[in-house]
Amino acid sequence: PTSKTSVLTKILICQDPCTPCPYPQRNWNGKVAVITGGASGIGEATAHLFADHGARMIVIADIQDDLGQQVAKSIGTEKCMYMHCDVANEDQVKALVDSTVRTYSQLDIMFSNAGILSASPQTVLDLDLTTFDRVFAVNVRGMAACVKHAARVMIEKGVRGSIVCTASVTGSRGGSRLTDYCMSKHAVIGLVRSASTQLGVHGIRVNSVSPSAVATPTLCRSFGGIDAEQAENICERFSSLKGIVPKVNHVADTVLFLASEDSAFVSGHDLVVDGGLLSKML
Ligand code: NAD
Repeated sequence: PTSKTSVLTKILICQDPCTPCPYPQRNWNGKVAVITGGASGIGEATAHLFADHGARMIVIADIQDDLGQQVAKSIGTEKCMYMHCDVANEDQVKALVDSTVRTYSQLDIMFSNAGILSASPQTVLDLDLTTFDRVFAVNVRGMAACVKHAARVMIEKGVRGSIVCTASVTGSRGGSRLTDYCMSKHAVIGLVRSASTQLGVHGIRVNSVSPSAVATPTLCRSFGGIDAEQAENICERFSSLKGIVPKVNHVADTVLFLASEDSAFVSGHDLVVDGGLLSKML
């Protein structure tokens, strides 16, 4: 092409074969992923989805050992393994990441997803600061440790990896009762913005996913031990999209996008999965 327009068109629609193609392959083969909080809920659904897309190995990290092992078995032990890791303990996070790289040579994807909610309401007036510390230890310090150690090994191995953190719609809005949780998820979004700014130079992308309410054991506990059906009814009420009951798969699909090269130019972004909740004013 000779004119400026045709050069632009060529770049925009990528008509001609380019050697080497500057656009990365959308190929999951060979990818190694760690998923924290992978024994249940959003993490479990994401582990299945990564496996269905051909990830080479998924390492599920959790504190619920029996459940974690069951998930690994249901995916297939040739593709998925379980490792005990309390993300609030930096030594355990370091051991998780180092052992993944020692065994599988690299780490391409860190889905830092483990998080907890306090069982009691936690308005600012009745904030229990012991509970507050535990929520922060898991949701903030744990998340930071996962990002730190995943980035360290990605840089050491020269991997242009993707780090996805689970935040929440409460990470950008106030809540009527979950003050500690809400504060912790604001911190996750702050972590993602800082880390993406600093790690972009290494080709590492960092994003977060922010679900509204989806029925998982954590959600059921936060509503005083309701069952899954009751939880789904509550979750549906938060959405503007009628006819869709929010499920863990809706979140997992979004994580898959952020983890894969389909989102090759997306970094520092918080992607809400909320059926329009945050856009709603009245
Ligand atoms: P879940 O209870 O199904 O899963 C959470 C998992 O994290 C559990 O397997 C649990 O054992 C694990 N975990 C807890 N503490 C841990 C620790 N210290 N170290 C390692 N693993 C630990 O709940 P979920 O809803 O799938 O939660 C996943 C993430 O999604 C959390 O970060 C949560 O805050 C976030 N989130 C959930 C919702 C929702 O409505 N379910 C909404 C917004 C954000």
